[in-house]
Amino acid sequence: MDILKKHMLECDLCGACVDVCPSYNDLGIITDLYNYLDESARPESLPKEEHDIRLCYTCNICTVSCPKELGIRKLVSIAREKKTKQFGKSEEQGLADPFSANNMYHKIGDWEPPVTFRNEGKKSDVIYFPGCAASCMNKVVGKSTAKIMDACGIDYSVMSGVDYCCGSVAFGAGNPSPLQKIGQKNIDEIHRRGAKILVTTCPGCYRAFKVLYPMIFGEQNFEVLQTSEYLWRLIQENKLVFKRDMKEYLTQKEVVAGSDNGDVVLYYQDPCHLTRAVGIHEAPRRVLKSVPNVTLSNPTPENSACCGFGGGVRTVFPEKSIAQAAKIHELAKNAGSNVIITNCGGCMKNIIEGGMTLKNGLPVFDLAEFISLACGNPATERDDNKLVRLSNKALLRSLSRYEFNPYGDK
Ligand code: SF4
Ligand code: SF4
Repeated sequence: MDILKKHMLECDLCGACVDVCPSYNDLGIITDLYNYLDESARPESLPKEEHDIRLCYTCNICTVSCPKELGIRKLVSIAREKKTKQFGKSEEQGLADPFSANNMYHKIGDWEPPVTFRNEGKKSDVIYFPGCAASCMNKVVGKSTAKIMDACGIDYSVMSGVDYCCGSVAFGAGNPSPLQKIGQKNIDEIHRRGAKILVTTCPGCYRAFKVLYPMIFGEQNFEVLQTSEYLWRLIQENKLVFKRDMKEYLTQKEVVAGSDNGDVVLYYQDPCHLTRAVGIHEAPRRVLKSVPNVTLSNPTPENSACCGFGGGVRTVFPEKSIAQAAKIHELAKNAGSNVIITNCGGCMKNIIEGGMTLKNGLPVFDLAEFISLACGNPATERDDNKLVRLSNKALLRSLSRYEFNPYGDK
């Protein structure tokens, strides 16, 4: 049975999904979607403004909250596909397409040199696949992961995001052709290098290799691990050793100055596309709980919220997206935390940007960045202002209708 029929048959309009949804407040979204998805519907029957399908963050909170696992997102996804067929690809859909002149990571890479990883191209047991974001935009993520692997003495090589894209973000935006074109080439390269393990940072890359590629190209003979899973394995194998007291370090650096008792209380931000989409939420928490002298305020993903970046909302409704990101700081503070840990380049960028709108935003660290520090490595260079401005400038240059420009870029 197709998704629409199943939904129409099983949904009893209980409202649990809209109660938790950060975008839609009333059940009219469901009837609007039913109307638009009806085969006989005309293009102009697109949902009305407050139910605009571009407002969905694809966070999946509605799906996990629905007693029947229906939710709203699945309907939104097929509505987005239908809209693409009716009206053609949008400019936004080209942003993560590796073959598009509109690709925002290529633009950023032209303005600021991407990360240069050592070990590119050689045969190795382990391959690190940082993805476009950790190679060109959130460079601290890619650099910190490589530092950890160096410190642990891993034999690894890198498939940099400058040369290799997984295609999953374009796929998620309703444009499957890049993934279909490059997926097999990526798999062939991993086989050529003889790797047994592929480590991905980005939740989108993880989903591509773990879920989408096996469905499209068949089973692979290498293991796919997200950074957090790999770090947890290194800890268990006693290869990753914590050499720095992070409480002392963050206090000395005044990162946690002003907290009640100087304790370092971490809030782990569950990326929607890892936690709810592919079920990874225990490994990052195990890793963080292993770090001496820090505590974790949210031991489960219960009540976790979307950072506002996903589903293309940051590109179409930037103010709304950033306001949603600012809420993560409040959520973390209300849980008694004084540091936010992210595990996705998009979440990190957005939560930093959301924090800039607040008087007392919390410090934000990427998981690999935090663990690299805890291993005793020197701090990885980062420039949050540049990160936010470059990303916004790429949108300004790529999207003809994009006008959000609080940073004064051209
Ligand atoms: S929570 Fe599920 S059953 Fe209830 S209205 Fe939403 S989709 Fe329908
Ligand atoms: S995926 Fe998130 S934003 Fe989209 S409808 Fe569901 S809860 Fe709302």
